[in-house]
Amino acid sequence: MTVIYDLHSHSSASDGTQSPAALVTAARAAGVDVLALTDHDTIAGLDEAGHAAREAGLRLIPGIELSCTWERKTLHVLGLNIDPAAPRLGEGLAELAGLRQARARRIDAKLAKAGIAGLLAGLHDSLGPQTQITRSHFARALVTGGHVKTPAEAFKRYLGRGKPAAVASDWPALESVIGWILAAGGTPVLAHPLRYQLSASWLRRLLAAFAAAGGQGLEVVCGRGTVDEIRTLALYASRYGLAASAGSDYHGEATPWLTPGQLAPLPAGLTPVWDLWEAA
Ligand code: AMP
Ligand code: MN
Ligand code: MN
Ligand code: MN
Repeated sequence: MTVIYDLHSHSSASDGTQSPAALVTAARAAGVDVLALTDHDTIAGLDEAGHAAREAGLRLIPGIELSCTWERKTLHVLGLNIDPAAPRLGEGLAELAGLRQARARRIDAKLAKAGIAGLLAGLHDSLGPQTQITRSHFARALVTGGHVKTPAEAFKRYLGRGKPAAVASDWPALESVIGWILAAGGTPVLAHPLRYQLSASWLRRLLAAFAAAGGQGLEVVCGRGTVDEIRTLALYASRYGLAASAGSDYHGEATPWLTPGQLAPLPAGLTPVWDLWEAA
């Protein structure tokens, strides 16, 4: 029987709309056998997801999606199969939490200048103290407040690059976050490599730097990636000696076009990331 993997998903510990337990239930109902919960810069959802996974008969891979900076660009690195209790990772997450809080305050101040005050206070009231606040939360608050119709419009008008509430984000270096993942016994995987709007030569530079810094995997199948995108990423994975991962980047109701585990098969000839774990 084929095992259905989904190694990229979000819960309400970051910007997913479902609680960790509800996410696990939804993934199981959709036929997922192995799910990685990979919230932005937090492991706060992993305990609850782990309990729910044991009840649902699903294998939960403890994961995270770390924000980082490389050559002044923001990138996302998944840490799959991490030990959430690893001290070095914990120190890194404390740093990231501080950066996110400060960034949320700067976004809030810029929105206030643009005439929209008090969104962050509202988020603090409605979200648990464990939730990492992302731009998705501001986007949804802008929808709820009637300032825009959709989150996509919120990014286009307020939060995206060059817009009134855009902030420069000084995340930790790519090399640092890879180091934290490795220190936690995890597999560093470059998330959605084609979403950074890099030219082919920049992407090749990035992949060389990622592999040299200890990166081990590439998200070859992401969400509803096209056949062409998957083929391109498979070639890069081979060329840079990276294992291949597959994940939906499901965010619950915020990504209604996605179903957990509904992913194209990994192209033949690649090493799936999960083979690295069985060998260990
Ligand atoms: P942050 O890490 O705080 O910058 O937030 C990034 C998150 O915002 C991503 O993980 C997506 O979930 C979401 N996001 C980014 N761009 C868009 C967009 N154009 N429309 C809707 N959501 C977006
Ligand atoms: Mn997100
Ligand atoms: Mn991402
Ligand atoms: Mn994600």
